[in-house]
Amino acid sequence: MPSRCARRFAESRPLSRAKEHLGSIAVVRAGLRSLVIAAALLAAASASAALRVVATTTDLAALTTAVGGDLVIVESIVPAGIDAEAFESRPGDLDKLRQADLVVRIGLGYDFWLDALVVRVGNKRIMRGGDAYVDASAGIPLLEIRGQGVVNEGGHAHGVGNPHYWLDPEYAIIITASIAEALVRRAPEHRDRIVANRERFLAELRTRLQKWSEALAPYAGATFIAYHNSWPYFARRFRLNVVGYIEPKEGVAPSPAHLARLISLARTSQVKAILHEPYEPEETSRFMAQKLGVPMLKLAISVGSMPDARDYLALFDYNVATVANALRARNP
Ligand SMILES: [Zn+2]
Repeated sequence: MPSRCARRFAESRPLSRAKEHLGSIAVVRAGLRSLVIAAALLAAASASAALRVVATTTDLAALTTAVGGDLVIVESIVPAGIDAEAFESRPGDLDKLRQADLVVRIGLGYDFWLDALVVRVGNKRIMRGGDAYVDASAGIPLLEIRGQGVVNEGGHAHGVGNPHYWLDPEYAIIITASIAEALVRRAPEHRDRIVANRERFLAELRTRLQKWSEALAPYAGATFIAYHNSWPYFARRFRLNVVGYIEPKEGVAPSPAHLARLISLARTSQVKAILHEPYEPEETSRFMAQKLGVPMLKLAISVGSMPDARDYLALFDYNVATVANALRARNP
């Protein structure tokens, strides 16, 4: 590049042919440079134009990424592998919400702590009823419905229904429809890309769903004990049967009497394994597994809660393989 002095010289004096030539190269270079700068500015503008989405959980973050692709910058509030039902928010969570163009939540009391945070942010668009608010439970056929009066009893209590609905992979169809609708509402110019991203994701989901169902089909009706009541949607989809829980109530540690009843129930039901959520205390699950002579299976309850559950589809790859392998080993 010519120095600033050289350029000033070229501008102030009549040019020889050679200098004219050099000058035109300089003009082309300057033109190229401004093109490069323009491209960089454009890239920065489109990055800043990306919608900032805050999802309460890593699962909703993964599904939002699948639908939004490079149109979105997605952050989750609950870190991978942390119990969302017993989560305590941190100061950084408010900053995330202040910058959010869209908020996506599980609902049903599962992420009840979000309400207090959005009130503190004070942005009506990300509150219930706002155009930048998605309650992903909308339209999901719920299990264990308790009636409308029982909401937000506390961190662990399940609210109006069992909130672990993302663990039925078929419900990703409904969840991604809600997310796509909200993204289109915020960025209608990108409708086609959002719709195409979702279709591509759902095509892959359907292929894998077929494989997962085939992998677990030989074990239909197999019985399990789980630590927490996280698996009714997963179990129903794949025709598995969770007959009891180590927690007598969500978030409540078991008494010896409860465990004694559970062991007897497990024996009569011929329980095949203990399903364990990675963030729950392991001792009781291990004790039960030893007592019954069955494996303890750590399953991914959310994206990132086990190392192999890197995204939404990988979560089911991992959980299905873990259950199928354990049952095959017991019943080759
Ligand atoms: Zn729960």
